[in-house]
Amino acid sequence: MENRLKEEARKLLKEGKVDYIVGYGKGTVKFRTSPLITNREDDLEGLVINPFIVNNLCRYTTEIKGKLGIVVKGCDSRSLVSLMQDNKVNRDEMVILGIPCEGVVDIKKLEEQIGADIDQVKEIDKEGDNLILQMDGSKKTVPFRDVIFDKCFGCEHPTPLEYDMLLGSEVSPRVQIEKSLKKIKEFEGINAPERWRYWKEQFSKCIRCYACRNVCPACFCERCFVDVNIPQWIATYGSWQDNLVFQLIRTLHVAGRCSDCGECERSCPVGIPLRSLQRKMVEEVKCLFNHETGVDKDASPVFTHYEATDPEEFIK
Ligand code: SF4
Ligand code: SF4
Ligand code: SF4
Repeated sequence: MENRLKEEARKLLKEGKVDYIVGYGKGTVKFRTSPLITNREDDLEGLVINPFIVNNLCRYTTEIKGKLGIVVKGCDSRSLVSLMQDNKVNRDEMVILGIPCEGVVDIKKLEEQIGADIDQVKEIDKEGDNLILQMDGSKKTVPFRDVIFDKCFGCEHPTPLEYDMLLGSEVSPRVQIEKSLKKIKEFEGINAPERWRYWKEQFSKCIRCYACRNVCPACFCERCFVDVNIPQWIATYGSWQDNLVFQLIRTLHVAGRCSDCGECERSCPVGIPLRSLQRKMVEEVKCLFNHETGVDKDASPVFTHYEATDPEEFIK
């Protein structure tokens, strides 16, 4: 798949069909990957596809001017469709290179499984349903599905829904929803005062770095409400109350646009379990509006659309 990607990307640039390729390259830290965005053919040799391609690259589509050749996994393709529905990107201005995806590795889970720091691992290869790790003088086999992100257990669309070229064979969904929603169900099981205490503690840690917002493809406002000072929605200094308000408003703003890519949680430097909020909202939107982000490209964004039969009790 990786060689095919390099070949197709080269062709696209050479033939002038795109101005930039947006894909994954080797990261500077071991086993991590970084976005690779380039208009130079020479850089394309650095493109990679492996079980560590975690970033949702759709974040860049609203920032880069020009025609893009973009690499997407299943969840990313739904973010892209959502951006099309909101008229934030133009389908004719991109060539979508689809990666059928079996899941991506959560390095923290992998470290827990092997009881060692990832730095002690020399090589990782995926063979069938296992990861084979070469350690100092030994070899370890870890079942792949023991170390993928929680979001991947809930993935109903591992093969991109929108693409121009699919770079591998379709992957069938292997949904284990109870595993994907485990943390959310645990929260639902505790009483409201306990839950309040929990989130107060979590948002006391927030340093308002805005990584969660900046990494999110659904957070595309040119001016975010937190940067507005007339009126001032939240204080510029961090307090747990305002940190919580920031995240609650953000959660509402991305409702119906969140593809459960999990990037907000992954990017949070203080480890706030943000996906629990976002994924809960995904569930609510599905239950209330029967809407799933980015699945039907002809559908309207959920909050720009109404039916005459919609319930009105909430405005009484
Ligand atoms: S959610 Fe699905 S498409 Fe996205 S990384 Fe996980 S398995 Fe792949
Ligand atoms: S809110 Fe989080 S999980 Fe949802 S699209 Fe944004 S970064 Fe991804
Ligand atoms: S990434 Fe985490 S610390 Fe940074 S603003 Fe978001 S919640 Fe706060």
